[in-house]
Amino acid sequence: MVGGAERSDPDGNEPTGPVRTCIGCRARATRSHLVRIVLDTPTSVAVDVNASAPGRGAWLHPERACLDQAIRRRAIGRALRAAGNPSIDAVSHWFENERTAGTEPSDSTR
Ligand SMILES: [Zn+2]
Repeated sequence: MVGGAERSDPDGNEPTGPVRTCIGCRARATRSHLVRIVLDTPTSVAVDVNASAPGRGAWLHPERACLDQAIRRRAIGRALRAAGNPSIDAVSHWFENERTAGTEPSDSTR
C-alpha cells in the first residue's frame, strides 16, 4: 500500500472532505460515508457517532458486512492499537439498531 497518485474514481462525486479507509472492506470513502469507532475502554470499542472522541479512531462503512470483515481479520483491535481483542458488542449493537438512522436502508441482498 505504498501511495502513489491517488486519482481514481473518475465517476465519483468530487471529494468533499478527508478520505478514510474502511477497516472492513478497505475501500476509501469520505468521513461522511463512514462511522468512526474508538476504544471506549481499554477492552471495548464503541461507535463515535460525532467523530469527536479523542484518541485513535478507526473507520467503517455503516454496513454489517464491513464490520464482519473487520472482526474476522481482527482489524479493529489493530487499528485502535488495543491490547488483545477488544469487545465490539457496542459497535455490533449500533450496527443493528442505529445505522439506519443516517443511511438509506438499502435492503440487503437477502
Ligand atoms: Zn467498508
